[in-house]
Amino acid sequence: MKTNTIKIGEAVLLKFAARHGQKNISINPQTHCHEWLGAKNSAGYGYVKIDNRVIRVHRVTYALHYGEIKKGQVIMHKCDNRSCCNPVHLESGTQIENMRDMVSKGRGHWQNSQEALAAG
Ligand SMILES: [Zn+2]
Repeated sequence: MKTNTIKIGEAVLLKFAARHGQKNISINPQTHCHEWLGAKNSAGYGYVKIDNRVIRVHRVTYALHYGEIKKGQVIMHKCDNRSCCNPVHLESGTQIENMRDMVSKGRGHWQNSQEALAAG
């Protein structure tokens, strides 16, 4: 997955925050998901174009709140809502963890996914 290796620079983060901030976000009162109202790709992930690069919103949001995304790191949605960019709903993992996470989610509510992962 070549998209995993994209490094989001500080300049891009600042441009994103300045241009978009919270204005393209609708907060779902039930799930507390910050649903992206701007452009979305075919997979349902919100994205923005900054300096001719397509930046996925959940990744830039994660980087803004938690710092740089390392090579090979994927940003996962604990809430299973791909358009969500609530930093509390995002966590980083590897591609393998992401696959295991998706499998475990098939068995129960997302809040149990950590226990499911721990149990293997
Ligand atoms: Zn969410």
